[in-house]
Amino acid sequence: MSNFSHSETRKARKLHQCFGCGDAIAIGTSYRYSVGKFDGDMFSVCEHFECHKMFAACSSDEGVGENYALEFAREHSERKAGETNFEFVKRVAAQLISYANA
Ligand SMILES: [Zn+2]
Repeated sequence: MSNFSHSETRKARKLHQCFGCGDAIAIGTSYRYSVGKFDGDMFSVCEHFECHKMFAACSSDEGVGENYALEFAREHSERKAGETNFEFVKRVAAQLISYANA
């Protein structure tokens, strides 16, 4: 079974839903588009770059499911009142990255 994937940066011309956090990717912003095959299934996903950073932090051989960035953020922090999924992920990603560089 060969897994493969290809990723590229795209600019949103319509609304997309982020695979990592479930929030919308705003029109006019850049996002990461990936297409590939995993365990025999074809996939194509759109992600915020910040959410993809979480992918790098939490990915394992088992792969990750939908809203992985949000799940991962929940494991590391408490969501603040009024924070959207994406804001929450962005904040936790920034914390994890600053810890990694400390
Ligand atoms: Zn996202």
